[in-house]
Amino acid sequence: MKTVAVTKIGSLRDPDEQSRGRIGLVDFAEHPLGPEDVRIRVAYSAICGSDPHLAEGFFGTEVPIGLGHELSGVVEALGEKAHRNGLRVGDRVAGNFLRFCGTCMPCRNGKQQFCEHIQEYNRPGMAETVTWHESQVYKLPANVSLLKGCLLEPTSVAVRIADKTNIKVGDRVAICGGGPIGQLAMQVLKMNGATSLTLIEPIAERREMALRHGADAVIDPVAEDQYRRAQEITDGQGFDVVVDASGSPRAVRGLLDIAAKGATVVYGAMYPHDFEMPLNLSDYLYLKELTLTGVFVSPYAFPRALQVLPHLELDEFTEAVFDLDDAAAAFEAHVSGKHPKIVIRCNPIDDGAGAA
Ligand SMILES: [Zn+2]
Ligand SMILES: [Zn+2]
Repeated sequence: MKTVAVTKIGSLRDPDEQSRGRIGLVDFAEHPLGPEDVRIRVAYSAICGSDPHLAEGFFGTEVPIGLGHELSGVVEALGEKAHRNGLRVGDRVAGNFLRFCGTCMPCRNGKQQFCEHIQEYNRPGMAETVTWHESQVYKLPANVSLLKGCLLEPTSVAVRIADKTNIKVGDRVAICGGGPIGQLAMQVLKMNGATSLTLIEPIAERREMALRHGADAVIDPVAEDQYRRAQEITDGQGFDVVVDASGSPRAVRGLLDIAAKGATVVYGAMYPHDFEMPLNLSDYLYLKELTLTGVFVSPYAFPRALQVLPHLELDEFTEAVFDLDDAAAAFEAHVSGKHPKIVIRCNPIDDGAGAA
């Protein structure tokens, strides 16, 4: 079956075509349907900001590397014991690309994100079908279309980021980075009672998008004095919650300065392996009592992501749709940064009535 994959390791942004990474279509065999498995005919699979990092060899350099973990589709077949979720053939679904085994010590200790078998069912979903364990699959609400449904996984990341902020109603919140995760986290934190909600982002279109979706303020960190603007927006208090969704080494250091005393700072992105951020322990941890944390993956967040999905403004995330055969062009469009999100249509599947 056709699957989108990294076929050559290298940066997708490399101006030299010889050394640039490459994305193409490869033919992968379907995984056999185990007794507790669900085979999904994939409708849509979105490109994630992490996908270019896979092309750079972040998780390994042996090609081809199948891509795609933000997907929706329709149940095509169920293993003979896959009945615990009430799934039926024909159900519209989305899900978690990671299967948490439930049996290893981290799983049994409330820390599924550190499951020791987390990769076993991590199968590429930018493909005609994907076969997952039933515990990974969630039925979409009737009023969420397959096109929007492929955003369940990034929404789960936004929910997990919100969890890690320990936000309280009325907290002042800043988010650095206006890509999909930053924008979704902003909408989710707004639901949590965020005030002085501010997006920090150098690209004007992304700042404007944030203002359309509930931001109270935006900061251009290149053209403006970020610290001074943050002081203005928060009446000199700083932000109680600061989230980095940029993954940019240039951006992350200054976030400690705009954090309020006692604030939580969530580094909610992927960072270069060898990047080390200087950290003055006296200033930031002793005198300011900051809490610094991060997000790896999003266990326990999917059921709640399903609940909030119908309430998010997602139209602008699903405007750029490419066919599976045009995957290479889709990744070029992704790298150009012209669209908030790129979605790949893996099969033409009709939603049926009712889905918005
Ligand atoms: Zn992702
Ligand atoms: Zn486990």
